[in-house]
Amino acid sequence: MNTPTASPSPNDSPFAGGRLVNHFARMGVDFARSTAPVPLHNPRLVDLSTDAAKNIGWRLDTPEQKLVALLNGEWLPEGAQPVASIYAGHQFGSWVSQLGDGRALLLGQIETTDGDLWELQLKGSGPTDFSRQGDGRAVLRSTIREYLCSEAMHGLGVPTTRALAMIDSDTPVYREEVETGAVVMRLAPSFVRFGHFELFASRGQVEQVRQLADHLLKHYRPHLLDSPKPYLALYRDVIGRTAKLMAMWQSVGFSHGVMNSDNMSILGLTLDYGPFGFMETYQPGYICNHSDHSGRYAYSKQPNIALWNLACLGNGMLPILDLADAKQALEGYRDIYTREFYERFRAKLGLVDEQIGDHLLVDDWLQLMHHQGLDFSNGFRNLSAVTQSGNGLESLAGLAEADSRTEDWLIRYRARLQQQDLADSVREEAMNRVNPLYLLRNHLAQTAIELAQHGDYSEVRRLRELLADPFNYRPGHGRYTQPAPAGSAEFAVSCSS
Ligand code: AMP
Ligand code: MG
Repeated sequence: MNTPTASPSPNDSPFAGGRLVNHFARMGVDFARSTAPVPLHNPRLVDLSTDAAKNIGWRLDTPEQKLVALLNGEWLPEGAQPVASIYAGHQFGSWVSQLGDGRALLLGQIETTDGDLWELQLKGSGPTDFSRQGDGRAVLRSTIREYLCSEAMHGLGVPTTRALAMIDSDTPVYREEVETGAVVMRLAPSFVRFGHFELFASRGQVEQVRQLADHLLKHYRPHLLDSPKPYLALYRDVIGRTAKLMAMWQSVGFSHGVMNSDNMSILGLTLDYGPFGFMETYQPGYICNHSDHSGRYAYSKQPNIALWNLACLGNGMLPILDLADAKQALEGYRDIYTREFYERFRAKLGLVDEQIGDHLLVDDWLQLMHHQGLDFSNGFRNLSAVTQSGNGLESLAGLAEADSRTEDWLIRYRARLQQQDLADSVREEAMNRVNPLYLLRNHLAQTAIELAQHGDYSEVRRLRELLADPFNYRPGHGRYTQPAPAGSAEFAVSCSS
C-alpha cells in the first residue's frame, strides 16, 4: 500500500488562502478513527466542478496530476488527517446499532478566507473500521450519479453536499458485474448525520452527545449559543432546515431513495446520493429505489419520513434536551413544512402574493398532472406560457389533454392571475426562475455513465455544466428537456453502488 505523504511546502498548496485543520478528528477516537486511503490503480480525472472549487478556494491552475493524486489518496495536503467517523442509524425503520464511514474518509476542514469551514471527504477510498462486509469502494456508475446530482441540486438551489471532482480507475470492483472503482471528493461544511447522535445516546455516552452538539454550535451555528437553551435551539434549527429541505425536494420532484437516519444531514443538506431519482411523470407514489419494496421512501412519503427521522434525532439528543421541549419543537415541523411547501408551489405557479384558495389551486393542479400523466418538471415549466387574456388550452402547448377538468382549472388559474398586478412576461420570467428546464433525468445520467465506461467523460462534463444553470434555455440542448424514451421512463436504481 502506498503511504500518503504530506505536502513538503505550504507554498504549493492548491488552496488559495485556506489550510486544512481537523476540528472533527480532534474530538477523539470516540468520534473518528485514523485510516489511510488505499489508492486505485491508474487513476484519471473524470471531471472537476469549477463552481464547487470556488467554495474551498481550489486553484484552477493546479496541475491535474495533483488533483488526481489528492482524490486517489496519494498526496495529502498539509494538515490533512484522514479519519472515518462512527455513527449508527435507523435503516428502513430498523435500528442498526453501529454504522460509520465504510468507504469515506474525512481529510479535514478548509477554513476559507471568509471564515467558513468546508470539510473535504473522499468517497470510495478503501476500507475502514466501519466497512463491515463492504470493500470500501464506489463504482464509476454510482460515483458519476453522486457527482452530477450534487452539482445539479446546487444548481436547483437545493441545499446539498457538493462534489469537487471525481476520478475513474482500472481497479476492478465487484457488484452485480465487474465495474471499475472511482472516487469523488465531496465537500460540505459538516458531514454529521442524525445517526451520530443516535449512536452516542444509545450507548449512554452523554458526554459525547454534548461534545458533538458543542462542536456543531461552535463551528456552524454560533448565533444559537446566545439562546437560553442552545441545544434546544440546535434541535429546532435542524427541524426547520429539514422541513425546508423536504419542501424543496418535493418542489423539484426529487426522491432520495434511502432516507435512513444515517443519511440525514444535521445541517439540512441533501446527503448520500444512491438510488435517487427525479420523477418524470407525476406520480405521488413514485419509488426510485428498486430495493424499497414497501415504498417506505416513495416521493409522497418523504416529508413524513423526515419527521420520523427527526424523532430519532430527538431521541439521540435527549440526554441534553428536556423531553417536553423536544416534543414541542417536533410538533412545529408540520407547520414549517406546509408553509415552505406552498410557498414553493405558489412560486411554481407564478403567484407572487398569498391568497385564500391558493392551496387548493396548487393541490388541484397536482391532481390534474397526476390524472393526465404529465411530466412533473415540464408540466410546471409549460404553465408559464398561459396568458391572462387567453382562453381555451392553446397556451398549454399541447401538454395537457383538453378535458373539462383542465379547462375549469385554467379558468380559475387565469382568474387568479388577473388578481395580481403582474404582466404575463414578468410572471413567465419569474416562473422560469423556479421551474427548471433541465434535470438530471435517469436516462441522461445513464448516457453519461455508458460513455464514461468506454473512457469518454465528455458527457459528464456537459451535464455538469448544463445542470449548474438549469433554469435558462440553451440553444441546441432540446433533447435534455425530454422525458426518457417510452419504456425506460420509470426505471428504478438499485442500492448496489
Ligand atoms: P448507504 O446506504 O450507502 O448510506 O450505506 C450504509 C452504510 O454502509 C454506510 O455506513 C456506508 O459507509 C456503508 N457502505 C456502503 N457501501 C459500502 C462499501 N462498498 N464498502 C464499505 N461500506 C459500505
Ligand atoms: Mg449513507
